[in-house]
Amino acid sequence: MDNGKNQDPAYISTTNACKLCKPLGACLAFRGIEGAVPFLHGSQGCATYMRRYVISHFREPMDIASSSLGEKHAVYGGGPNLKQGLLNVMTKYGARLIGVATTCLTETIGDDVPGLVREFSREQEAAALPEIVTVSTPSYSGTHMEGFHAAVKAVVEQLAQGGEPTGAVNLLPGLVSPADIRYLSEVLADFGLQGIILPDFSETLDGPAQMDYEKIPAGGTPLTAIKAMGTSRATLELGRTLCSQETAGRFLENRFGVPWHPLGMPIGLRETDRFFQRLEDLSGRPTPEKHAQERGRLLDAYVDGHKYLFNQRAVVYGEEDLVVGLAAFLAEIGVKPVLCASGGGGGHFQKALEEVTADLLPEPPVVREGVDFYEIAQEAEALAPDLLIGHSKGYHLARRWQVPLVRVGFPIHDRFGGQRLLHLGYRGAQQLLDRLVNAVIQRKQETSPVGYGYI
Ligand code: SF4
Repeated sequence: MDNGKNQDPAYISTTNACKLCKPLGACLAFRGIEGAVPFLHGSQGCATYMRRYVISHFREPMDIASSSLGEKHAVYGGGPNLKQGLLNVMTKYGARLIGVATTCLTETIGDDVPGLVREFSREQEAAALPEIVTVSTPSYSGTHMEGFHAAVKAVVEQLAQGGEPTGAVNLLPGLVSPADIRYLSEVLADFGLQGIILPDFSETLDGPAQMDYEKIPAGGTPLTAIKAMGTSRATLELGRTLCSQETAGRFLENRFGVPWHPLGMPIGLRETDRFFQRLEDLSGRPTPEKHAQERGRLLDAYVDGHKYLFNQRAVVYGEEDLVVGLAAFLAEIGVKPVLCASGGGGGHFQKALEEVTADLLPEPPVVREGVDFYEIAQEAEALAPDLLIGHSKGYHLARRWQVPLVRVGFPIHDRFGGQRLLHLGYRGAQQLLDRLVNAVIQRKQETSPVGYGYI
């Protein structure tokens, strides 16, 4: 099959992107800070598109403020609207932090957002101003994942301070689910560690029912904790493709001397073992019995599930670090990740995949970064996958090939409970394993001419 791109190298159109918009990731990160309101400097349409994606996955209301620019601002600049918008958010929401992310429009016209915010702060001298963090997120040069990490780094750069050392441990988990954040928080507490998880949207994007609408939902990383991150004893930062870049964790080490521990996403047994080993080192305690038991049960399930999963061929796609973690896990359980693909193009994807799979896989997977679903389909068709593993945007491929799609990551908008999916740790691997085995069994039943009651 020829997609036309081979005939004309100048053809660079994206067909069904395997990534989302960069400031969307920034808005998610800001949502994980206590008292924060995400704010887009751009048109209203951007905010509407992002809210739609976030709400359909998390099933929670998500206010995203906007400077609401129109055509004339593209010519004369968006400064006045930005300042008026900040004032509105201050008065209507009582925000303690406003996270301002730029959009394609304001990056293209060249608005100096940090300069405008400084001007605004001077003009509002008498008023009690919230913290205002700015981040540059032009979507034409990056993914939602890059926007997410850029926002976390901006928050740390603009708010963290040094001081007397504390025993706290900073944990930068990346874009994981609210269930994953709750799990990480539980693990840190079980090791007796005082953790600062940034961001923490475990409540703000998956909170209990309320009688009245809360403009800013409860929860999130406290501002005081963020300011104290420069005094922590260590920073754990998850994501193998991320950790060769300038990150929030590296910044904290360079600026305040907080030791930086980059780690892979703890998905599957070996990556989770590495994470727990680091916690043992930091806490001076052995892995608590509860988690040792979960590890034991996971190993038992690996043995039990092997006959179903061995030699299954999986296409895995999504955010780079999630795909790397999933590939590490799949290689452990006998599933062949035949294609690993991402819309992100950070340049470290291939190497990270080799690091986690090289000693387990007889053949390396095909690796593609910076691709869309058109290109993923082209590669995958010839590889005859038995399974797809990724977010909802791959559903049409699963339907076309009549193979199961095991939904993970973000966005999951064609199933219920995406925000409560657990991916991390021994517990998360257990849940993923059960779902994978059941997907394989279900497919066998559905494709068998006689069906099976007992497999
Ligand atoms: S891609 Fe650009 S124009 Fe589209 S929603 Fe994102 S920021 Fe707005």
